[in-house]
Amino acid sequence: MAPVPLAIRKLTAHVNSLCACRLCPDMHPPVVSGGPVLSRVILVGQAPGDKEPKLGRPFAWTAGRTLFKWFFDAAGLTEEQFRATVYMAAVCRCFPGKKPGGGDRVPSPQEIENCAAWLECEIKILKPALVIPVGKLAISRFLPVGKLDQIIGRKFRVRGFDAIPLPHPSGASPWHRMEPGKTLLRQALGLIVAHPAFREIMERSAVPASPPSGLRPA
Ligand code: SF4
Repeated sequence: MAPVPLAIRKLTAHVNSLCACRLCPDMHPPVVSGGPVLSRVILVGQAPGDKEPKLGRPFAWTAGRTLFKWFFDAAGLTEEQFRATVYMAAVCRCFPGKKPGGGDRVPSPQEIENCAAWLECEIKILKPALVIPVGKLAISRFLPVGKLDQIIGRKFRVRGFDAIPLPHPSGASPWHRMEPGKTLLRQALGLIVAHPAFREIMERSAVPASPPSGLRPA
């Protein structure tokens, strides 16, 4: 039997430790992980909602449907192909619970710091060429966040990798459905799809280099 490469052994051990983490007393286990996917592309979400822990994977509900549709329309990559080739991380990996008035609780600064150690470890193991932070909380781990209009649709060089931010696909925000959000989102997806590290994962998924015209971002 061929030896298992060191990076996948390290990543598998990392994911096992992550899934056992119970550091934050106000977070609701279980930890949500996309599994040990060896990739040079990391997608960083914010925090799971209440459905993801039950379904056992990140972006498993409505926001995920929108996110995966963006990538399918832009690159012809299916949800299964995306999950199999992109490492899916998040600012916090546990469901924070609901706010008394409804909606999900925003993780506290301490919870964000606690969970940042896992992300740092993933960056060390995977040495990504491309990081895709999704939503303001995730973007703020890598870049100063002002208005989305000023950062979506652009590529940034951060700590030795490229970061191409995306807006959060949640139905709660209309930003990506209205101008200039629609155009900037299309530009951001175009930059991601053209990135050499993303092209590599498309090749691994055997997606044709040119998705159907109409689906390609401008
Ligand atoms: S949010 Fe992160 S640091 Fe906190 S318990 Fe969950 S996995 Fe651990």
